[in-house]
Amino acid sequence: MSIADNIHRIEQELAGTTARLVVVTKTHPVEKLEEAYAAGARIFGENRPQEMAAKQPQLPADVEWHLIGQLQTNKVKLLAPFVHTVQSIDSLKLLRELDKHAAANDRLINGLLQFHIAQEENKSGLSLGEAEEILASEEFQQLRHVRLTGVMGVATFTSDEAQLRQEFQQLRGYFEQLKTTYFANQPGFREISMGMSGDYALAVAEGSTLVRVGSAIFGSRG
Ligand SMILES: *Cc1c(COP(=O)(O)O)cnc(C)c1O
Repeated sequence: MSIADNIHRIEQELAGTTARLVVVTKTHPVEKLEEAYAAGARIFGENRPQEMAAKQPQLPADVEWHLIGQLQTNKVKLLAPFVHTVQSIDSLKLLRELDKHAAANDRLINGLLQFHIAQEENKSGLSLGEAEEILASEEFQQLRHVRLTGVMGVATFTSDEAQLRQEFQQLRGYFEQLKTTYFANQPGFREISMGMSGDYALAVAEGSTLVRVGSAIFGSRG
């Protein structure tokens, strides 16, 4: 199956659901991104800031770039001129830095709060309590150039469907709770980014709005 075939097949599966496709392009050369673009993909996800900043000028300007990997504050300036959404927000410090650089570029940058939902300890993300601490802070409420549009999570690497469903439901529960408490009159808070190549169908069934799919489109990263 070609890249285009894979994208078209997944887009068909997502048609009529709440979910949109983020094509995860990390490690792949620009030619493959161009193939994905030609097949209609417009949202690309990368996990390394330098790699994303190197590829961005080589693709058309209407690509929506999402960072899905950890972002250190000293790398924010690489992305601030163009990034659409940072899906991996895990601290107030990072929000502060994004706000500063977005302001310097006269831009608004979207962010998703990343939650720890997996059983594996090494996977990163906030707890609900940590997220609430950020949202309730005076400093967060002053930020004008970064806007939170939802939540993101990476599930356990497992084929246990019950486990995956439980983790996706947990993330959705966090989303609903934060929406009610902190974003009740903000329709822009609407994204639940969950689901990857191995589990996106389940994630969509549990209410995902953004699935992040790499290897099911490009093959394994080897
Ligand atoms: C690499 C990556 C993906 C895509 O993984 P695949 O299994 O290749 O679809 C999704 N989300 C995050 C955070 C990733 O790092």
